[in-house]
Amino acid sequence: MIKIPFSWDDPFMLEDQLSPEEKLIRDKAYQYAQEKLMPRVLIANRQETFDREIFKELGDLGFLGMTLEGKASFVALGLVAREIERVDSGYRSLLSVQSSLVMNAISLYGSEAQKTFYLPALAKGDLLGCFGLTEPTHGSDPGSMETNAKATKGGWILNGEKAWITPSSHADLFVVWAKEDGIVKGFLLERGMTGIETPRIEGKFSLRTVSTGRIILTNVFVPHENLLPKASGLQDVFQCLNYGRYGISWGVLGAAEFCWHQARSYGLERTQFGRPLAATQLFQAKLATMQTDIALGLQGALRAGRLMDEGRCPAELISLVKRNNARKALEIARLARDMLGANGILDEYHVIRHMMNLETVNTYEGTYDIHTLILGRSQTGISAFESPPIK
Ligand SMILES: Cc1cc2nc3c(=O)[nH]c(=O)nc-3n(C[C@H](O)[C@H](O)[C@H](O)COP(=O)(O)OP(=O)(O)OC[C@H]3O[C@@H](n4cnc5c(N)ncnc54)[C@H](O)[C@@H]3O)c2cc1C
Repeated sequence: MIKIPFSWDDPFMLEDQLSPEEKLIRDKAYQYAQEKLMPRVLIANRQETFDREIFKELGDLGFLGMTLEGKASFVALGLVAREIERVDSGYRSLLSVQSSLVMNAISLYGSEAQKTFYLPALAKGDLLGCFGLTEPTHGSDPGSMETNAKATKGGWILNGEKAWITPSSHADLFVVWAKEDGIVKGFLLERGMTGIETPRIEGKFSLRTVSTGRIILTNVFVPHENLLPKASGLQDVFQCLNYGRYGISWGVLGAAEFCWHQARSYGLERTQFGRPLAATQLFQAKLATMQTDIALGLQGALRAGRLMDEGRCPAELISLVKRNNARKALEIARLARDMLGANGILDEYHVIRHMMNLETVNTYEGTYDIHTLILGRSQTGISAFESPPIK
């Protein structure tokens, strides 16, 4: 019988399923992430410093808004997300917010003038954007948002507060969602408009390489031309989030792969009780779980990406891969942290940073629970998470 070789780190032969163009983009992202990001991430995370230069580099590489106008496939976007997040979820978050949330919102719902004015600068990394949906008292339930827009001569007056916005304190452009007469609308706000404050959130133990802040709006005048004219309701917000969630489903597996490989190497090198840790059954069982969850997760993300490229990926499938891959990646990072023993808590091994980052990724862009309920609704036809009717 012929023995068919098995790649322990690529069981489903993902490599064979990628086009030459996708591999080229992936290799470019891998090289940049390993050579340019990895040497800077430890100190950035330790000191919580946000490096705008990195953002500019992502623009120079063509990674910002790469799927717009069919420049690259959704699978290519996923591969880039995976390579950047192999180093740090914070940097991948920056990429996702700019591309999937900000640029997509303008591309899908903006006027021709807005697209011409903002998209090239956003793609080059000259303009840094953020996406203001969450509020201090409305996270999973954005439909209850309180930020409001009141029509006035020449535009709108916006009041309200957004919380947990990546990276509002450094952003030049703010996509802000607000209600006018109960209807959610999208507005493009610029730094320098009177009445905007963007304090940074302090004390964050996750995604420390990218800042997170609030957007406080006090009687901000927004002219007519800064409304996203084609956005009309929460479903349009979710459309942007779907793109972000898809990228996350790939990105988290990059972080998980790093943790898996780190644990494997550590177990092969470290000896306890006279033999390598990797020679023990418990250690191998954990490696097998990591290998299986990552390999299956990548196949799911790839299939979702191919369907995205064909324009037929349902939102529920994106929920499925975001929910599963983010949770599995978090579990893998926690396992790896344990497998490294005391060294697992040292940032120089990078596993603890991934673990803390993945706590956020499991929560943002729809928590694990919310995606669970979306999938529950898809099977039963019953929504378990809509607000009760107001009596
Ligand atoms: C670092 C970071 C960056 C972020 N960046 C952005 C950004 O750029 N833009 C933006 O708009 N937002 C951003 N967010 C916000 C993020 O999307 C929200 O935190 C997320 O949607 C959850 O909202 P919440 O924190 O208010 O939690 P809550 O909605 O209060 O949920 C708390 C818990 O209750 C559970 N829960 C909620 N409702 C239900 C239900 N019906 N049934 C069962 N369980 C439920 C949740 O799953 C969760 O476990 C960011 C968050 C973090 C941490």
